Amino acid sequence: MQFISTRGGLEPSEFSAILLEGLAPDGGLVVPAELPRVDAATLESWRSLDYAGLATEVISRFATDIPRADLEAMCRAAYSAENFPTEGVVPLTELDGGITLVGLSEGPTFAFKDMAMQFLGQSLEYVLARTGRALNVLGATSGDTGSAAEYALRGKDRVAVFMLSPQGRMSAFQRAQMYSLTDDNIHNIAVEGVFDDCQNLVKELSGDLAFKQQHQLGTVNSINLGRITAQTVYYVWSWLRASDAVAPEQRAGFEISVTVPSGNFGNILSGWYAKQLGVPLRRLVLAANENNVLDDFFRTGVYRPRSAANTHATSSPSMDISKASNLERFIFELVGRDADRLRGLWTELSERGEFDLSHEQARFADEFGFASGTSTHADRVATIRAVHEATGVTIDPHTADGVKVAREHQEAGVPMLVLETAQPAKFPEIVVEALGAAAPLPDDLAAMLELPQHVTEMADDAEALRAFIAERATA
Ligand SMILES: *Cc1c(COP(=O)(O)O)cnc(C)c1O
Repeated sequence: MQFISTRGGLEPSEFSAILLEGLAPDGGLVVPAELPRVDAATLESWRSLDYAGLATEVISRFATDIPRADLEAMCRAAYSAENFPTEGVVPLTELDGGITLVGLSEGPTFAFKDMAMQFLGQSLEYVLARTGRALNVLGATSGDTGSAAEYALRGKDRVAVFMLSPQGRMSAFQRAQMYSLTDDNIHNIAVEGVFDDCQNLVKELSGDLAFKQQHQLGTVNSINLGRITAQTVYYVWSWLRASDAVAPEQRAGFEISVTVPSGNFGNILSGWYAKQLGVPLRRLVLAANENNVLDDFFRTGVYRPRSAANTHATSSPSMDISKASNLERFIFELVGRDADRLRGLWTELSERGEFDLSHEQARFADEFGFASGTSTHADRVATIRAVHEATGVTIDPHTADGVKVAREHQEAGVPMLVLETAQPAKFPEIVVEALGAAAPLPDDLAAMLELPQHVTEMADDAEALRAFIAERATA
């Protein structure tokens, strides 16, 4: 399996060569040269596998250059009982009204990013060891991504993490989760400023090519194709578990729909790759919060990203994104993998701030299976309350966006699954608003809040950051 760029400017490359970068040198995104596909019998033969075994099978269709035994060892380490103590790694839980939750937040940071990041941590260490390279991850976080990356890369050889966060703007829980780590290769830096200042510092240093090369700087952001690939696994898993109870002769025609709380379009894109792989997925329903640029796009065909200043701070903060970095991979498929046409659309986007595919909008659902909807703060509160009243289950605000939109897209005879993207204990405020009391903290989380914290406070100053990294980068 080779990988190419959506904009046509990348020599076909192997999986291990593209793992360190999601962005191609021509500014496009890396995609498989051909999306892998398996037949129904192969899919059926995966039914008896445990999660790590299934991950090995699915990821091996993309990572064809990694020997199978090595890939299996990585998947076993990533999806171990230590990282994912819940039986089966990804539990399915039935709610009321024909909706089933897919539990993706059983990992070390209690959010779905762990599902992909744990695999990425293993595979990065493997590739770096084989190529004799090192990687210094420089990132900015306002919450979940930074901690998932740190928990996946802590203690790994040839890797260091420099994670910027805005001083005084993280929740007590987020601070404790990141700053309580004691690994030598994890560096938390609290910048005097807001998230955008952190991100600008990252851009400035990453744009300094000499510095970037000298210190082998890189990222593990949501366009990383290793993450997209690893996320494909739980869509296969979800279909297998949902169809376990179906009579064997009816399984091949058994379809499910999946609703995905979305921000950067990474998670749901993985779902579409799973559909192409051959998983009987009927609808992929995109759930947005008030930052509903993608819902607008899927309903109208006009893509009009908003600026950071026009992005609302909501109670499902991990979806507060108005420029979905992975959308380019979907548009690439929509234009029939025509890199010229894709480049034309992106030129239009940079010149006019939008592009218009309204004449093709009907294909989004008919050909690709996408649907979409929006949920608001009031919807989240009402949904958390209604689900709790009906079932006793507490869901987090992102998952609540999913459940709200899922209910609008249910079809008779088609099970609707909703991806649970975080644990409710991480978002006490809205849970209190909905239920009058916070979700109980698991014991180890309560203990974590008490641990000493390790963080370097720094002015919003690129020179200071350069010096800090130069002194501590791994080589
Ligand atoms: C990252 C995240 C999302 C959005 O996922 P995308 O892949 O960016 O669409 C949704 N919910 C939670 C809790 C997240 O951390």
